Amino acid sequence: MSILIRFSPKRLTLPLNSIINSSRHLSHDQSSLTTKNQLPQHYDIIIAGGGLVGTALACGIAKNKVLSEKKVLLLEGAPPFKGFAGGQYGNRVSAINNGSVELFKSIGAWDKISSTRYKPVKQMQVWDGSSDALITFNHDNFSENVACIIENDLMLDAIYTQLETAQNVTILNKSMVGDVKLRMDGNPKNVVSLKNGDSMSCDLLIGADGANSIVRKQMGVDVFSLNYERMGLVATLELVDPGDNSVAWQRFIPTGPIAFLPLNDTMSSLVWSTTPSEAKRLASMEPNEFVDAVNEAFWKDYPKSNVVTNALEALNSIMGRDTLSNRQYPPKVKSVVDKSRACFPLGFLHASSYVSTGVALIGDAAHRIHPLAGQGVNLGFSDVTNLVKVLSDAVYAGAEIGDKHHLVQYEQNSLIKNVPLMIGVHGLQRLYSTTFSPVVLLRSLGLQLTQNIPGIKDIFLKRAIA
Ligand SMILES: Cc1cc2nc3c(=O)[nH]c(=O)nc-3n(C[C@H](O)[C@H](O)[C@H](O)COP(=O)(O)OP(=O)(O)OC[C@H]3O[C@@H](n4cnc5c(N)ncnc54)[C@H](O)[C@@H]3O)c2cc1C
Repeated sequence: MSILIRFSPKRLTLPLNSIINSSRHLSHDQSSLTTKNQLPQHYDIIIAGGGLVGTALACGIAKNKVLSEKKVLLLEGAPPFKGFAGGQYGNRVSAINNGSVELFKSIGAWDKISSTRYKPVKQMQVWDGSSDALITFNHDNFSENVACIIENDLMLDAIYTQLETAQNVTILNKSMVGDVKLRMDGNPKNVVSLKNGDSMSCDLLIGADGANSIVRKQMGVDVFSLNYERMGLVATLELVDPGDNSVAWQRFIPTGPIAFLPLNDTMSSLVWSTTPSEAKRLASMEPNEFVDAVNEAFWKDYPKSNVVTNALEALNSIMGRDTLSNRQYPPKVKSVVDKSRACFPLGFLHASSYVSTGVALIGDAAHRIHPLAGQGVNLGFSDVTNLVKVLSDAVYAGAEIGDKHHLVQYEQNSLIKNVPLMIGVHGLQRLYSTTFSPVVLLRSLGLQLTQNIPGIKDIFLKRAIA
C-alpha cells in the first residue's frame, strides 16, 4: 500500500495505521497529515525517485517563488527516510563541491548540514601505484576548500527538514512506479501507475529514479552504458594518529583506485574500487586482516618499470622539480568500524537525450559515472539548479510547464557541463585500469606535466569544484 505525508494543513480522516510508519514523520502534528483518499489525481509535476537528487529538486521547486504554486508529487519506492541519527558516521558519504554547497544554501539546507557535521577538504593528493607520478590539488595557502565530505543521510535529512514547510509538495513513500504513459507518445497527459495499482497524472514527469530509471526506459532514448566489472567497497575507518586530517587521498593501484575521504581528526571514509571477487573477499575478512589490506594497498611498493621511473625523473629535472618533494604520505588505519563495510556496483551510463515534451531526466537516471572523481551526485545537484532555473524562467514567461522548447534549454546547459567531465572521468578509469608499461609511461608523464604546470592544474581544479 502507498502511504504518504503531505505537509499542508489538512484534516486526518483515516485510521492512524494507514499513515506512514516513521517516528520522524509521526512527530508532526496529526492535523498536518493527510490521507491517500484526499490525494488529487493530477499534479503539475511528478518526480519519480526520492534519492538525493529527486528530493533536492522537490525542495528547489518549493523554494522558488515562481514555482511555489505548482503542485508537486514526489514518489519514492523505499519506506520513509528515518532521519539522520548522528553518532557513528554513516558509510555512505560524498565529496561535495562548491556548486552543490551553493544549492544547499539556496534551498535552506546548508545551515543544518554545517551546524551538524561535515569535513572541509583542503587538499587532494592523487598518485599512481605503478610509478612515482603524483598530483596535488589545493588553493594558494589552502585559503579555500577543494570539497567537503558530507554523509548522504545528513544531506537527505537537511533537505527533508526544508520540505516539511513546503505547502506544494506531497511525498508518497513505498510507491514504486511500475509503468508510465508519456505525453511525448501522444497521450494528453503523463500517467504514472504505481506497482500497487494506484495511478496519477501530471503535466511534467521528472525521472530521478536512478541508473535503472523506468522513466528513461519509457522515453525510449538511446543509452550508452558500461559495466566496469568493479565494485565500490566502502567502510568507515579509524586512523592511528589524530591530526588535522584535511587531505583526501587517492592511489591508483593495479585493481583500481583506493581513496580516503576525511570525516574528522581521527576518522576517514574508504572508497575502494576493485574486482567483484576481491571486494567480496575484503568485505568478509576479519577486521584486523581488512585493516592490514587497506594499509598495504596505500603503502605497498608495486612493481615499477625502469623506463617509466627514468622518464619521470628526466621530466622533473628538466622542469626543475624533485620527483619526491611534494609527496605526502596518507594516514595509517587502526581499525574498521563494525558493520560499516558495504559494496556497490560501478558503471557508466549516459542517456542520449534528457528531455522530451512533458518529461525530463536528472541525476543518475540521465548519467552515471565512476566515483573516482567524486562527481556523480554533484552533477545531479547541478542538474537540479539548472532545471529549477529553466522551469522558473518558462513559467515566468507564461509557458506551459512541460514545454519541450524550454526543457531543451535544460538539456543543453546540462550537457555542456556533464559530457566533458564524464568523458574525462571515464578516460581516467580506463587509463588507470592497466599496468601495460607504455600506457603507464604516458599517463605518468601526463599526470606529472599537469602537476608541474600550474595553469593546467588550475583548470582541472576549477572544473571539479564548480
Ligand atoms: C561507492 C560510491 C561512492 C560515491 N561517492 C560520490 C562522491 O564522493 N561524490 C559524488 O558526487 N558522487 C558520489 N557517488 C555517486 C552518487 O552516489 C550518485 O551519483 C547519487 O547517489 C545519485 O543520486 P540519484 O538521486 O540521482 O539516484 P539514486 O541515489 O539512485 O536514487 C534514486 C531513487 O529513486 C528510487 N527509485 C528507483 N526506482 C524507482 C521507481 N520505479 N519508483 C519509485 N522510486 C524509485 C530509489 O529508491 C532511490 O531512492 C558515489 C557512488 C558510489 C557507488
